[in-house]
Parts: sequence; C-alpha cells; structure tokens
Amino acid sequence: MGPKLQGLLELQDIELQIVDIRRQLARRERAVKAQGKKLDDLHRALESQRGELQRAQIQMDEADLDLKSRTSHIGRLRERLNSVRTNKEYAAVLSELNNEKADASKIETRALEMMAALDQQKSSLAEQRQTEEKEVQRLADVQAQLDQAKQAFAEKLAALQKQRKLAAEEIDQSALVLFDRLSERYDGEALAQIERTHPRRDEFVCNGCFMSLSAEVANACLTHDEVVTCNNCGRILWMEKGS
Ligand SMILES: [Zn+2]
Repeated sequence: MGPKLQGLLELQDIELQIVDIRRQLARRERAVKAQGKKLDDLHRALESQRGELQRAQIQMDEADLDLKSRTSHIGRLRERLNSVRTNKEYAAVLSELNNEKADASKIETRALEMMAALDQQKSSLAEQRQTEEKEVQRLADVQAQLDQAKQAFAEKLAALQKQRKLAAEEIDQSALVLFDRLSERYDGEALAQIERTHPRRDEFVCNGCFMSLSAEVANACLTHDEVVTCNNCGRILWMEKGS
C-alpha cells in the first residue's frame, strides 16, 4: 500500500474514533429527550387526574349539602308531626316525611359511593405523584450522565479533530472530498478492504458491501497507489500485500 492510501486509512481511523464519540453522545442525548417526553406525558396525565378529582370533590360537596338540608327538613317535618291537629294533616306530613326520608337515603347511598370513588382517585393520584418524583430524578440522572460524558469527551474530541485536520492536509483535494462524502454516508467507514475469498483462486470481495470485485480492480489497488472505488458501494478500496 502506498502513502496515499495509507494516509486515507489513517484519516479513517481518526474519523471512526470521532464518529464513535459522537454516537455515544447522541445516544445519551436521545435518552435525555425521551425521558423529558415521558415526564411531559406524565405531567399531562397528572393534570387531567387533578381536574377529575376537583370535579368529583365538587359533586361530593354538593351531595353533602343536599343531604344536610334534607336532614334538617326531616327534623322540621317530625316536629310538625307532633303538632298537627287533624288526621288528614297528619297523613300529609307523614307522607312528605317518608318521601323526604327515601330521597335522603338515596342521596346518602350515592354519596357513599362517591366517597369511595374519591378515595380511590386520591390514592391513585398519590401513587402517580410518587412515580413523577422518580421520573424527575431519572431525568436529572440521564442529564448528569450526558453532561459528564460531554466533559469527559471534550478533550479527546478536540485532540482528534486536531489530528484529523493534520491528517487531511496530507491528502489531495479530490480524494478528501470523496472521503468526506463517503464518511458522511457510511458513518466514517469511507474505506473498505478487499478480501480474497479463496486462498488459491483470484476471487475478491469488498468487505464494505460483500459484493465481488474483479481481479483487475484488486490488482490495480494493490499495485498503484490510486483511489479505486467499489462499483457497488462506492467506498475507497484498499488491499493488504500478500492477501
Ligand atoms: Zn463495496
């Protein structure tokens, strides 16, 4: 392998390290974003639960008030029952009293049901609040991990970028343009090694895309220090002597 391909391989080696760091940072950034979204969803669910609870509480208070007013009405009807003078009046008050008692009993049953539902809603909300606390903590954790990784990688990334700049200076303009384009397309893997697939036959593949390559391509790559690309994937080919 001549100095031109050697230079490209060195550039790729640096590029792959940069890509790897960027990938690790991107993974942590995605984790932060996903956790943020999870928390947003949880906040919305909690808000709607709080609203439901408020409405249920208002209904409960109304039923309580209704029950109180009916109870005092029943008390007044009982007093009246003691002071009526005629049988007809007695029967009318008694009938009103019985109706009011039946209504009050229905409201009481409903109020008890509402109370049970309200308790359930309250405990569910308390549970959700605990979950929220945990998820808030988790967001802080993944954010801290991201910040830590950024800090840890900053120096290394700066050093690699400097190395990359120096390595790129050794490569001619057209090869560099091709390298950058391929690197973007293949996450830094701009080059592919030619492999002989049979020890005795002249059969070769590109190890970037595993398509077969002609013996001429392999030979050109081995004997001239030129940029030869794979017909299929377009990567810059290189081959080790004696392979
Ligand atoms: Zn290929």
